[in-house]
Amino acid sequence: MKMKFGVLLLTMFVLNALVVPGAFAQESPRPAGLGENNAKAVTPFKMFDNLYYVGLDFVCAYVIQTNDGLILVDTLFDSFWDTTAKGMQAVGLKPGDVKYIIITHGHDDHYAGLKKFKATYAPNARVMMTEADWALMESTLQKAGAEAVAAKGVARDMIVKDGDELKLGTTTVKMYITPGHTEGSLSLVYNVTEGGKTYQVFNWAGPTLQSPEIPVMEKFLASTRRIQGLAKDSQVWLHSHPWSVSFFQKYEKLKARKAGEPNPYINPSEIPVFLQGRVTDTEKRIAETKARPAGAPQRGNRGAGN
Ligand SMILES: [Zn+2]
Repeated sequence: MKMKFGVLLLTMFVLNALVVPGAFAQESPRPAGLGENNAKAVTPFKMFDNLYYVGLDFVCAYVIQTNDGLILVDTLFDSFWDTTAKGMQAVGLKPGDVKYIIITHGHDDHYAGLKKFKATYAPNARVMMTEADWALMESTLQKAGAEAVAAKGVARDMIVKDGDELKLGTTTVKMYITPGHTEGSLSLVYNVTEGGKTYQVFNWAGPTLQSPEIPVMEKFLASTRRIQGLAKDSQVWLHSHPWSVSFFQKYEKLKARKAGEPNPYINPSEIPVFLQGRVTDTEKRIAETKARPAGAPQRGNRGAGN
């Protein structure tokens, strides 16, 4: 596993080095061949005093540690349902201390591991999702059939509204509904600490547009413009998939850093660059779609993530 992951990281680094000049420029492309069918767990690790990565190479899961328990952000695929728990154990956390599980949006790489994780490790944990994406999850599972509902279906619990705050101990996670990727995609804002300093994280769960429909693209554009304001004071830029924020290149730098060097996840300058790139690209796609004669082929979706 370690060897394979090393090769994968090297491949991702080379791909990014070829495509993106300079470190952590606007956006890294999704590495060729990386998808949900060959996703792998990676070594879990500590990002900040109170933030851990317990996800895959393909899709993220984070643990926010508070002084009154843990908050798990996303639960991966069904086939990786215990990866987050094993990750917590490996970094010295107890999965049974999870008090809240935030599902950033209703695609199965983010929620499908929820049912088994919760039943096995944290039966009393509360589950938070937007109303639109509870509905998306339910309808997706119902369409897939009774077996899928039995394996992955979770009863509705807490419904997140725009601007809600989750408070646990002295930690606050602000939640904003930023539609486009899905109708109820969440963005999370919270603080992390290191070396006695505090930094603000902005986690945009739905930074990719998957629909060619103009109303959806316009919603995505509006969300992106809103995030330009919401994230203006953030220093740490996270997404629900790793490649779009050069996540593992930063991890390599984190592992290699020497005492006194900055944490590579603190990189505020990439945030406005990324967001302006999304605004420009989405405006262009909307204009192209409006100009296209009826029945003409659609432009392919860019950087689609689940
Ligand atoms: Zn998704």
